[in-house]
Amino acid sequence: MYFEELFLEMNEQIKTKELFEDAKKYAYDYLDSVKGMDVFPSDSTLSELSAFSEPVPKGPGSPQEIIKLLHDIGSKNTVAQTGGRYFGFVDGGAAPVALAAKWLSDVWDQNTALFVISPIAAKLEEICEKWVAQLLGLPENTAAGFVSGSSTAIICGLAAARNELLSRHGWDVSEKGLFGAPPIRVVISKQTHSSVWKALSMLGLGKENAEAVPTDRQGRIRLDKLPPLDSSTLLIIQAGNVNGGAFDPIDELCDIAGKANAWVHIDGAFGLWAAACENTRFLTKGIEKADSWPVDAHKTLNAPYDCGIVLCKNRAMLVNAMQATGSYLQYSDNRDGMLYTPEMSRRARSIELWATLKYFGKSGVDELVNRLCAMTSHFAAQLEKHGFIVENEVVFNQIVMRCEDSNETTELLKMIQSSGKCWCGGATWNNEPVVRISVCSWQTTTSDIDECVRLFVELRKRVNH
Ligand SMILES: *Cc1c(COP(=O)(O)O)cnc(C)c1O
Repeated sequence: MYFEELFLEMNEQIKTKELFEDAKKYAYDYLDSVKGMDVFPSDSTLSELSAFSEPVPKGPGSPQEIIKLLHDIGSKNTVAQTGGRYFGFVDGGAAPVALAAKWLSDVWDQNTALFVISPIAAKLEEICEKWVAQLLGLPENTAAGFVSGSSTAIICGLAAARNELLSRHGWDVSEKGLFGAPPIRVVISKQTHSSVWKALSMLGLGKENAEAVPTDRQGRIRLDKLPPLDSSTLLIIQAGNVNGGAFDPIDELCDIAGKANAWVHIDGAFGLWAAACENTRFLTKGIEKADSWPVDAHKTLNAPYDCGIVLCKNRAMLVNAMQATGSYLQYSDNRDGMLYTPEMSRRARSIELWATLKYFGKSGVDELVNRLCAMTSHFAAQLEKHGFIVENEVVFNQIVMRCEDSNETTELLKMIQSSGKCWCGGATWNNEPVVRISVCSWQTTTSDIDECVRLFVELRKRVNH
């Protein structure tokens, strides 16, 4: 019978491991070539993606050919994020041990909903929760949910905040919904990351109602413009401005919010890791006084994608928000991961997070953050030396750079992005187009940076001709 054959074939695939050997070989090819490949695929390479456009396959294909197609066309149409000359968004690299742990755990194919579905994933979530809180200097017993990224972590943290603030007015939002609910206030930085605005819209808090506080030229909340806070207020601040990397005056803001009994949520997707490094910890002074913190291990910590974490000071409040009912507080003796996340089934990202943390340890994380900051300072100094204007105070891993003239900047950015040698994003900074550089991978070296600066100089000459 046809189907019987298919399953026999899959058994064979597991037995011979040829397929996995192929995948391994292709993966090694990629690891060996990624430093030299185009950082972003050329137009002609991109056009090869049409090889994937076809109707739903009529029947089973050749597994070898499937993996080969991925290698032949897929790998060159990746962005060489792990190559050292990619500075887009805030996209981190991947520590080898984390990759290896991910490979191994891919074979395990665990679901981390409950302890009984995966004891190992549950145990490692429990360990990572403690380790992350300790590394960041957050209160003992801080609860962590392991989610895809900060966008989801922000939704979780703000859901906990919303529910708590409404419950202070005797309103159980899980039961009653938002229609007719007493108003709560959202005080937010004008420079808040788009994912926070998205979370506000998804949570029914709306964007128009948010009181957006003006920022200074670095994108930090201006304390003198902060409206009075009260116990119905959700204050959302930033550890790490997405463009320039600036940190809001966290300590002062937390003290003001603390007196008013407001909820403080700190978006620290990449910047919260500053707290795990001796030299940068001052930037995050006071974070432990906040109530919820989203952070990404796939950014600064160089864990693979997707590895987001929502941290919440009050365990019950996070659990209640994720269960959509106040009575679902059935802690088992072991950790049940789904209590802390919107999802029930989830992949076991705690495994590679654990491997990353176990490998680096406290001093390794310190060193990693230091390295990223040192590379960033070097980059900024080289840029200034060659006549580019660095707009931001370089405090962490972000640089906002421009040329004398805004058209020059825009053209330069286009050329950088199509050069294949390097990739940077763009942004608008104080109404000017800028090139946005994020040094976020352990792979980036000073020679990568020097090569990029030489390239920028070369491209700028071409813009001006
Ligand atoms: C990246 C980022 C986010 C969103 O995180 P994802 O992991 O991409 O969902 C939110 N806030 C800031 C400041 C970020 O840098």
